[in-house]
Amino acid sequence: MILILENLTTEDQIKHVLERVEKMGLQHHLSRGTFRTIVGIIGDESELNQSQLLSIPGVCQVVPVLPPYKLASLEAHPEPSVVDVSGVKIGGGSLGMIAGPCSVEEPERMDRIAASVCKAGANLYRGGAYKPRTSPYAFQGLGEDGLKILREVGDKYNMPIVTEITDPRNVELVTKYADMLQVGARNMQNFVLLTEVGKSERPVLLKRGMSATIIDLLMSAEYVLSQGNPNVVLCERGIKGFDAETRNLFDVAAVPVLKGLTHLPVIVDPSHATGKPALIPPCSLAGLAAGADGVHVEVHDCPEEAKSDGPQALLPAQYAELAEKMRGMAELLGKTISPLPA
Ligand code: PEP
Ligand code: MN
Repeated sequence: MILILENLTTEDQIKHVLERVEKMGLQHHLSRGTFRTIVGIIGDESELNQSQLLSIPGVCQVVPVLPPYKLASLEAHPEPSVVDVSGVKIGGGSLGMIAGPCSVEEPERMDRIAASVCKAGANLYRGGAYKPRTSPYAFQGLGEDGLKILREVGDKYNMPIVTEITDPRNVELVTKYADMLQVGARNMQNFVLLTEVGKSERPVLLKRGMSATIIDLLMSAEYVLSQGNPNVVLCERGIKGFDAETRNLFDVAAVPVLKGLTHLPVIVDPSHATGKPALIPPCSLAGLAAGADGVHVEVHDCPEEAKSDGPQALLPAQYAELAEKMRGMAELLGKTISPLPA
């Protein structure tokens, strides 16, 4: 941490700043320039309270040297992390291909969709049993019945399953069925939920909040990591934009930005980002080209009957066509689509 002092700081003020740093149990290094005096603080930064430092008379700027998302940062872990979801690897050159309907629906439909995405090459099956809906009157998900359906179908096709968790009280229940816990955009800053999934042993798919900055996303990941769960995959799923031509604004640059800041795998979700089937293939490929470790796509065999997000669903045949293109892109990038568990 570096403190930059105001231009006309008095000797008494400088002395007071140094005393405060010593009281915090840390060492200091004073450097007097022609125009500016700066104080370097040496020691454990976690002991420091940035706003307290900024309140010391004479201090005009506090510059942290290390990022506040310590465990998520590249400094902490220079090699890319690989997250293993019950045998399917995401990161470090292995791509996760998550596909399935928005909501878990009736068993026969879940089976048909799973058969098609599995055949196309997806390696993780998704579906929400607990749906975070804008309206309390909209379909809220099948709950535990939905978890049972998803588990059964996942087992039949040997695909690990990903499902959303919306309530910290449900962690134990959802963990009983799911291979990976999704924390959705609306809950990215539900700190109680993040803390609870951080205590679980399941990998976490953490989606970027629709108004969250990249640093906000990393700080949310830090909540999970700080509880002892190292298996976090980040997901760019679009942020609020001003143009209604797309459901959200697909921030593809967030992928390389994140790659420059964190070792955690990053995937993209062009379904929620664009909201339009026609835009999903080009944005999936753009995400991979930008360095994503996987692609998350919603697929439904009859979008007009879908319980949620029908208008953005790809049909099974469209997904198969996209998967073929993603294989080509993976090859071009020297990456492999993670095989199904042995
Ligand atoms: C979903 O995956 O169906 C979902 C609700 O996603 P998001 O949290 O990104 O809106
Ligand atoms: Mn959805």
